[in-house]
Amino acid sequence: MSERPPTPSLDAFARAKLAELESRSLKRTLQETWRTDGLWVERGGKRLLSFSCNDYLNLSHHPEVKAAAQAAVETYGAGAGASRLVTGDHPLLEELERKLAAFKGAEAACVFGSGYLTNVGVIPTLARGPDDVVLIDELAHACIWAGAQLAGGETRIFGHNDMGHLAALLRDAGASGRRALVLTDGVFSMDGDIAPLDEIAALCAAHDAWLMVDDAHGLGVVGDGGGMRGLFPRAHIPLQMGTLSKALGSYGGYLCASQPVIDLIKTRARSFVYSTGLPPASAAAALKALEIVERDAELTARPVQKARRFTRALNAPDATSAIVPVLFGQAQAALGAAGKLEDEGFLVVPIRPPTVPEGTARLRFAFTAGHDDSDIDRLAACVRSLMAA
Ligand SMILES: *Cc1c(COP(=O)(O)O)cnc(C)c1O
Repeated sequence: MSERPPTPSLDAFARAKLAELESRSLKRTLQETWRTDGLWVERGGKRLLSFSCNDYLNLSHHPEVKAAAQAAVETYGAGAGASRLVTGDHPLLEELERKLAAFKGAEAACVFGSGYLTNVGVIPTLARGPDDVVLIDELAHACIWAGAQLAGGETRIFGHNDMGHLAALLRDAGASGRRALVLTDGVFSMDGDIAPLDEIAALCAAHDAWLMVDDAHGLGVVGDGGGMRGLFPRAHIPLQMGTLSKALGSYGGYLCASQPVIDLIKTRARSFVYSTGLPPASAAAALKALEIVERDAELTARPVQKARRFTRALNAPDATSAIVPVLFGQAQAALGAAGKLEDEGFLVVPIRPPTVPEGTARLRFAFTAGHDDSDIDRLAACVRSLMAA
């Protein structure tokens, strides 16, 4: 044991912060969860059917994906060993980038350690100073905001999917001679709705603004598996980012763009330059998963079909993605509802502020290709009775 002096002021700070969060039902705790097959989990000695994983195609447990990861460990080892610019650029990464670029119809791609690292690396590399303005949809993902905070220029928020508002902000930026970088989720992670990218792309083109779309919840799930590019084949999206960690069942992030943009990112994005390369197993798993997404249209169609079965059973508007939110308002109510569903054998994680705006605590249901229709019907019946209570 070391004999370090205690730091009572630091511990008191942490305790006071935690107590305050606890009093607002906003304290978060980890719960060890064993995901046994991409669908079922074991938690606290209970076996639960998960509607809380982003593993939309259950590929994290696909035999071919697991075998590819294992083979990569044998060939290349467990870790990349260094930043890719030093010695961490193992051959699988280039293969993965070629495949991602082709999949997205882009010239080139850059793979990062995660989706979060992609956004916090790319955004400040492209929006650097007072001549830049970053425009963000108010419901964009936390790591897009984190990237914007690292950017040099001003950040302005447009109302969720509000094209009139975005157009006005673009006009403002033009009038003050500033370049705009426009940032939005494709499928919104907590709401499951979709950005009107045809309109956004047209606005950006008219104002020479740069559009970056986060396809974390789109790839493999919407647009015949092609994500935003599949849904909006005619929209020009010069900066297509996403993650390897959701429908692809692996880990890592990527940006697809033109060759000069990717060359710039690889030489300047700090989360690329100063962070270790993606482990070989993750790259190999993502490569195999992409191959499955490309060849199996029946598989990629299923998550949205399952989500629709659920929304129809609730008499709610048709799901447009694999994500369906059911709002409860206060955090306490969402926590209570999640507890009741757990008693019925379902794992549905409540989502609270600051992940979602104050007063919109919710259950976020994520549907996957492997969910049984009969389980979805039983879940919907439980949710209906919760809402009636
Ligand atoms: C999950 C998510 C990310 C982060 O990706 P990771 O690979 O998990 O770091 C980025 N953007 C959106 C919209 C996400 O939902």
